Amino acid sequence: MGPDTAEPGREANERPSPSRVLFKGGFVADTQARLLVRADVLVEDERIVQVVGEGVSVPEAERVLDVRDCLVLPGFVNAHTHSYATLSRHVGNGLPLEPWMVHTWANTNGRTAEETKLSALLTALEAVKTGTTALLDHLGGDVMTTSAALEAFDELGIRASVAPMISDLALPDTVGVPADQWPAAARANSPAFLPANADDLLARTEELHRTWHGRNGRMAVFLGPSAPQRCSTGLLERCAELAEKLDMGVHTHLLESRAQAAIPPPPGARSWVDHLKSVGLLSPRLSVAHGVWLDGDDIADLAESGVTIVHNPQSNLQLGSGIAELEQWRSHNVPAALGTDGVNCGGSMDMLSSMRLAAILHRPGQADPAKWESAWSVLELATRAGAQALALADVGTLHAGMKADLSVFDLRTSAFATHEDPLASLVFSSYDHRARWVMVGGHLIVDDGIVATVDEDAIVAEAAEMHRHLLRRNDKYAELARAQQTFLTRVSAEATPPREIMAFRRQSRQP
Ligand SMILES: [Zn+2]
Repeated sequence: MGPDTAEPGREANERPSPSRVLFKGGFVADTQARLLVRADVLVEDERIVQVVGEGVSVPEAERVLDVRDCLVLPGFVNAHTHSYATLSRHVGNGLPLEPWMVHTWANTNGRTAEETKLSALLTALEAVKTGTTALLDHLGGDVMTTSAALEAFDELGIRASVAPMISDLALPDTVGVPADQWPAAARANSPAFLPANADDLLARTEELHRTWHGRNGRMAVFLGPSAPQRCSTGLLERCAELAEKLDMGVHTHLLESRAQAAIPPPPGARSWVDHLKSVGLLSPRLSVAHGVWLDGDDIADLAESGVTIVHNPQSNLQLGSGIAELEQWRSHNVPAALGTDGVNCGGSMDMLSSMRLAAILHRPGQADPAKWESAWSVLELATRAGAQALALADVGTLHAGMKADLSVFDLRTSAFATHEDPLASLVFSSYDHRARWVMVGGHLIVDDGIVATVDEDAIVAEAAEMHRHLLRRNDKYAELARAQQTFLTRVSAEATPPREIMAFRRQSRQP
């Protein structure tokens, strides 16, 4: 979409912003050299135009920010989240994925555009306040509600790729237990027992793509099949064709839980990854969330195809799904990125929490500390690698010519008092992850700790009543979820993944 295209919403979102902003004298992260350098960063319009060391003169800027006591980092890219989750943060909390999902579904069913927008605003607020400048939102709903989330991201000014989450199979197929084996109370009047129409689902995605993709240079629409075991082979094939035809990114969940790994792939496929390969989806345009229950051949296939696996460490722990094999992905050179997942299973939108977990979670399985993740390696996952997963070619590092997406963290707290290693202190030690300044495409979204584009207090004030209303309105679905919970907890507990996967995990010492 050309820059002169007049589309609805454009004028409303053109914020007056100084054309030149100078971040003066901060510790600037050179993520390629893995060094912090005292430098000035000059931004003109939407791009970084100069990163120069002390003593080098820079042109005058309309706005000069003194960042001498600050870390200047590329903005974080959250490569997997769900914005619906922020309005139902603890619904189903304390359950594994399969029973948790039916509670989630019960709470989100029938969300209005207004509710979807508020949830997206809350999500994006928490993201930008903690230094995230781009996110991928895997979001279910119709065109109207999904558009409401895109509006929210556009108003707030974050960079967003929305992958409308689609699935055409009925709930029993998605967990691998035929409907007639469910207890009667768990299937009575359940709308989730009806399959959806693939034509409608793809038409919705196409319409959103036509309307939103490329808007304001920040919005993108991806294809978002929910997970391979939740979609018919036909739907997955058509996703692959459409992605090719419209040059779209594709995002899906993949083998997150034991129960998913225990569902046999369709006839003729060696594994679920092999199935994705046979429908034509394995390519660099695909990113997959989780990938906890893969075997060595799957990882080799993903590496060969350039698929990005998005690690969501907190969600994998919080739902008891398992510990992903980040180290194996690394040794096979699979592109890896980092996400928080929805806050209803991943805690919060704070990418520094994900970075901390990714840095320490895999250490007990690796005797050679030289192979451990470091503050720099997880920063790379959270910036450049995420940008690649979102197909953002000129985002993710702080160099002249790149888009001006950056986050500034104040170092004047106890975690940084000794001046030892500011980046390590931020990743491993800091208890306050609020960014002081956050810029997206040259616009200051967080200015001296305050979100400049939307009214944060008003958004927060609305949430509790909306949550209460959702609980009341969807109580009949919640009752059904309670009836399904015991059964699905048993399905989850009794699931037996194939021998190859179990052997591979034992060999790489993952619980
Ligand atoms: Zn997810």
